[in-house]
Amino acid sequence: LRALSRRPLHFSTATISRSASTLILAEHENGSIKAQTLSAVVAAKSLSEENSVSLLLAGSGRSLKEAAKHAASCHPSVLIADSDKFEYPIAEPWAKLVQMVQQSGGYSHIVSASSSFGKSILPRAAALLDVSPITDVIEISGSSQFVRPIYAGNALCAVRYTGANPCMLSIRSTSFPVPPSSADSKSNEAPISEVDLSTLDEDYLGKTRYVGHTSQDVERPDLGSARIVVTGGRGLKSAENFKMIEKLAEKLGAAVGATRAAVDAGFVPNDLQVGQTGKIVAPELYLAFGVSGAIQHIAGMRDSKVIVAVNKDADAPIFQVADYGLVGDLFEVIPELTEKLPEK
Ligand code: FAD
Repeated sequence: LRALSRRPLHFSTATISRSASTLILAEHENGSIKAQTLSAVVAAKSLSEENSVSLLLAGSGRSLKEAAKHAASCHPSVLIADSDKFEYPIAEPWAKLVQMVQQSGGYSHIVSASSSFGKSILPRAAALLDVSPITDVIEISGSSQFVRPIYAGNALCAVRYTGANPCMLSIRSTSFPVPPSSADSKSNEAPISEVDLSTLDEDYLGKTRYVGHTSQDVERPDLGSARIVVTGGRGLKSAENFKMIEKLAEKLGAAVGATRAAVDAGFVPNDLQVGQTGKIVAPELYLAFGVSGAIQHIAGMRDSKVIVAVNKDADAPIFQVADYGLVGDLFEVIPELTEKLPEK
């Protein structure tokens, strides 16, 4: 299945219209554009010419200004919506903003990453614009031809968009890796245009109210873009034991992942969940301890370059996708591995 999902599907035509223009819904944090958005830019370059790609950033204050500067140093066109209304990335005002920007800009495509941000905003904006979004795209074969996984990644579906403009897409960032050079800043900075928000409907918030924001204050790589991921499953048996996974990840400079069973059992918070209903990852190395390999988990990590699994059950399905498998007790293997790895 892993081999199949990597084989490209071919369409007869792959034309890019010269009049195509793409709007990207950009995510930013601490004054920088997030990696998922850079992947969306890579995807957008297959839809329209580079100078017809615009990044839309919303927010307020210094963080937005810095993120806009970052965007302008790498990309030809940047639009910003600077208002307290966008201090937090709440889907309702964002969806209204996208509708407004589309009405004035007439873009042929609107693209976001398939992140929590994109999954929340894109369908709402699509409903306001009365079009059907195409989600989780893993391959772009032309301006209206796409490939997306279905049945938890067990089959690939070729889709042709025949609706009205804009064609709205969310892309799976692991399928559009960012070449190192495109993340670098260029010396020429693009102009930053401000979106006129005077006509933004005052009813923009609907029934949503901002309550609060919590984030883990750990210096670990982001799960979605880490080079190495160490994942623990129900086999860890407790939150206390799960710390073994964190210690190993620390030594490897890796991100920590978990199965849904581990999350449901309260070992770790749900933002670490990998799988169909969690994060999709494709690191260079994926280490799975005490993970059975349920289809919904495999759906989130099958594209990892090298998969290593440790499980005491030799028949565990995870061994069917693993490049290296060790039948053994994780309570012996993890401490030994952690001890033998050199200090960073
Ligand atoms: P288990 O299946 O219980 O496996 C634990 C494994 O640990 C076993 O293979 C066992 O042999 C091994 N083990 C136990 N003790 C040791 C030891 N000492 N040493 C070594 N090995 C040991 N799951 C996800 O992960 N992500 C998702 O996004 C997701 N989405 C879902 C969506 C839907 C709609 C549904 C229905 C399910 C979803 N699930 C998801 C749940 C999924 O079906 C499995 O239940 C889950 O992945 C199992 O997690 P697990 O492998 O940790 O637990």
